[in-house]
Amino acid sequence: MAIYITNTATGKKEELKTIEPGVVKMYVCGPTVYNYIHVGNARPAVVFDAFRRFLEYRGYKVIMVQNFTDIDDKIINEANEWGVDFKDVADTFIAEYWRDAQNLGIRAANFHPRTTDYVNEIIEAVNKLISKGYAYVADNGDVYFSVRKFEKYGELSGKKIEELISGARVEVSSLKKDQLDFALWKAVKPGEPSWESPWGCGRPGWHIECSVMSQKLLGDTFDIHAGGEDLIFPHHEDEKAQSEALTDKPFAKYWMHNGMIITRGDKMSKSIGNVFLVREAVKRYGKEALKLFLLSKHYRTPIEFSDNILLDNKKAATKVIKSLNRFEEKYPYPLVPKRDHYMVEMEQKFIEALEDDFNTPKAIALIFDLAKELNKSMDEGKDEEALKRYHLIARVFGNVLGIFEGGSKLKEETNEDKIIEEILKVRQEFRKEKNYTAADKIRDALVRSNVKILDTPEGTKWEKNTEVNE
Ligand SMILES: [Zn+2]
Repeated sequence: MAIYITNTATGKKEELKTIEPGVVKMYVCGPTVYNYIHVGNARPAVVFDAFRRFLEYRGYKVIMVQNFTDIDDKIINEANEWGVDFKDVADTFIAEYWRDAQNLGIRAANFHPRTTDYVNEIIEAVNKLISKGYAYVADNGDVYFSVRKFEKYGELSGKKIEELISGARVEVSSLKKDQLDFALWKAVKPGEPSWESPWGCGRPGWHIECSVMSQKLLGDTFDIHAGGEDLIFPHHEDEKAQSEALTDKPFAKYWMHNGMIITRGDKMSKSIGNVFLVREAVKRYGKEALKLFLLSKHYRTPIEFSDNILLDNKKAATKVIKSLNRFEEKYPYPLVPKRDHYMVEMEQKFIEALEDDFNTPKAIALIFDLAKELNKSMDEGKDEEALKRYHLIARVFGNVLGIFEGGSKLKEETNEDKIIEEILKVRQEFRKEKNYTAADKIRDALVRSNVKILDTPEGTKWEKNTEVNE
């Protein structure tokens, strides 16, 4: 059996053939640390953490690098606004990233390099690009990469140079020889942090950091480069051009990109202002619902984020957790099941789904089937012998994807919650009888008690403070 993944560079599903047998070297572009991460930032972190867990489950040793961009215009602006050092902004949001990662059960990569720890190596790389004729120093001390000097430019994103010229995404500057060129090094502006270089004081451009840090930690050519699809152009195209111009070797063998999170019709992005922070989402819907939301659709497709969709995910996640908890409460020390035909078959189905371009929706559907079977068998009063295999494989599959992991506890239902549920049942009866006056009186009374009522096509949902319940 072989693992297939869609390689953005070719647009095709390709068999994963690693450079070194049994080892996967993987680089994932990480966040620019100037704010708390939002659900859009969490998608690549959750998806590629799950993919790495799957590779490990299949026996690979995975060496994973995820960077922190800790110097950038946005970080500098934030620091100026607060009147603090840029480093303190970066340190704060790296620490806060770890809090969110912990809450979502995202494992740390093997290396989390920070741009500012690699400035010397970046200067060395820029120097080499200048001496090889791929880059030039502008009048003010900026250094630019000459896009037209690199023949394969556009290969990854499938863009032709002519298309790029008409594209509006290129930063216009009179310092560039060609408007397509991009900055490798930015000369210092008043009030900005800077480092000494052969071209005067300045700081690294964005793209060069990933080229340099991946080369230092994974080598000139490595297996998989991953990130959000919004990074394909220009970020990944530029990384590839710089790296291949530097080493004369291919950069990444495979490129994997996740689709965007769409909310209110747009990509979730800080600059658009439609973001939902990870910690808000975890507080409101719970970790399991958020992870299920991020993994129950194929990683390459865009997914819509809305209150209703998240509440549906919460409902679905609750079913699985309740079923597993029900078994574990009854059997705190379950016996080891005998490996039977059913277990082997389920395992094969699970692996087949994930080997086919990491089809998590198909794999998660199997966990739902197992949880349902487990619950049904418990209703039917079957003995432990009949139950334990469902429980074990559901737990194993969950651990592979980092979802429904052991110890997932649901929020305790309080007596007050039960009373609200009962009152809502009465309101529902009034609504059925079309006695809307009475139904509305009940709703108003609940609203006065800080309980918000949401009537949705799937039924009535309610929330108290920030918690949502079905
Ligand atoms: Zn990058």
